[in-house]
Amino acid sequence: MGPGWQQLVLECHQAVASEFPEYELLPVKQKWEALAFQAFPRPWKPGGNWTDAQHARLHAVTGAFADRGEGICERCAADGSLRESRGVHLVLCDRRELLVPEHGLL
Ligand SMILES: [Zn+2]
Repeated sequence: MGPGWQQLVLECHQAVASEFPEYELLPVKQKWEALAFQAFPRPWKPGGNWTDAQHARLHAVTGAFADRGEGICERCAADGSLRESRGVHLVLCDRRELLVPEHGLL
C-alpha cells in the first residue's frame, strides 16, 4: 500500500480505536483494489478474546472504509482509478499511471 492512502488508514484507525481502544493491528494492505484494514478487537489470546458480535462490529467499521480506496491514488492521494496495465493492480491517478514502473513496487 502506498502513501496516498495514509489519510484513509488514519481515519479508519481513529474509527476503530474509538470503539476498540485495545485493538490489535494486523498488516494493512490493498487487496482487490480496496483497503484491507485487518485488526482484532483486542490482543489475540489462545481460545479467543472477543465475542462474535464484537468481531462483526469491527468488520463493519473497517468495511465502511474499504471501498473508499477505489477512487484515491495509492501514491499521491489525487483522484485515481484502478489500473490493470501491470502484473499488480494499482489505484493510480493519470500522472502516476505514467510514472510507476511495471513491477509496481514502492
Ligand atoms: Zn497520484
